[in-house]
Amino acid sequence: MITFEEAVELSLNQSITFGIESIGFEESPGRVLAENIVSDMDMPPFNKSAMDGYACRREDIGKPMRVVEVIRAGIPPLKSITRETCAQIMTGAIIPEGADTVIKVEECQVTEASQSNLAMVRFAGEKTAANICYRGEDVKAGELILEPGILLDSRHVPILATVGKVVVDVYCMPTVGVLSTGTELVEPGEIPGLSQIRNTNAYQIIAQLGKMGIDSDYYGIATDDEEITRNMISDALNQNDILILSGGISMGEYDFVPAVLNSLGIEVAFKQVAIQPGKPTLFGTGRNRFVFGLPGNPVSSFFVLDLLIKPFIYKCMGHSWNPPVIRLRAGKQMTRKKSNRLSWMPVRIDGDGLVYPVEYHGSAHIFSLRDAVGIIPVPIGKTIIEQGEFVDVRPL
Ligand code: AMP
Ligand code: MG
Repeated sequence: MITFEEAVELSLNQSITFGIESIGFEESPGRVLAENIVSDMDMPPFNKSAMDGYACRREDIGKPMRVVEVIRAGIPPLKSITRETCAQIMTGAIIPEGADTVIKVEECQVTEASQSNLAMVRFAGEKTAANICYRGEDVKAGELILEPGILLDSRHVPILATVGKVVVDVYCMPTVGVLSTGTELVEPGEIPGLSQIRNTNAYQIIAQLGKMGIDSDYYGIATDDEEITRNMISDALNQNDILILSGGISMGEYDFVPAVLNSLGIEVAFKQVAIQPGKPTLFGTGRNRFVFGLPGNPVSSFFVLDLLIKPFIYKCMGHSWNPPVIRLRAGKQMTRKKSNRLSWMPVRIDGDGLVYPVEYHGSAHIFSLRDAVGIIPVPIGKTIIEQGEFVDVRPL
């Protein structure tokens, strides 16, 4: 049996990418960038007013100043600012020649213009910042702003828009098929008969993949019959780069999956991993296809997808995914009996930022995930987490 770290490394080393395509930047969240993005201009592109107010010379602040024009956003100024003059200016407008400060409209005394006289303004505040966003202070023209391998999200969309990058090169998505095994399974819309249960794994897998932006294809339930299992796996394999199976890989008499995969040209790299839950976990490759077999028990299946398959799929999408962790203290002592596997425990976080285990009866207890916000690792050899000890919560 290999360790979790070995399983992750072994599978990641086998991963491949599936080419590059160009898409509209609005469609880019969830995709991985495959090109350098360079700014085509300074940002801001000109010295810009950060306030609605009056643009003037700092040395004139305190004196009455004549208002020589009104500068709107989107319309360049016509006049320069000279001694004891100013221009009324709107947020986002160009700072006129000669001005080095914008005084806020809220801090000004204004004498209205009359027929013969221009309006006069006097600063009535105590002191003022320049209130100017300077040309190029955010980004310079030609600067590298995004690199290949970034998993794009909604934060990157306005950045791409700012530099006019409306078509972007991203890595192609792998196609993913999902297949459940087990004669005892019925679909969730049905009422299980005696000795049957509802197929939850396929739908949690599809939902977990959906969260990663993967639109998977579902192939249904293969009953525990070798021929049926072979036909259904064969179909799904022919149509997808990655196949995710649930169940049928442990030590039972009717766990046909490893043998079937072998007969279909898939070499099984491992079918047991030293994690708890999730020991019966399979990974195989062949014919440029990748197969993961998840444990039948739903909590195991949920965790293993997150722990092993998620980094693999992201790698196939061109992204090196590092799971975020939140380091917090345990709110109470947590213990386990055996320590020969890396264990992952579902936990919640209370209002004080302390970590507690959720009620968890074992790997079939899918309801335990209702209250869990994440999982924490308990390494091989460790049986006790003391109250107050730091734990690394990996959000689910
Ligand atoms: P297996 O890995 O096929 O031996 O299944 C282990 C346990 O998980 C058994 O109790 C199965 O009934 C259950 N199980 C298998 N597949 C599913 C599924 N798709 N949804 C819910 N439970 C499942
Ligand atoms: Mg089974």
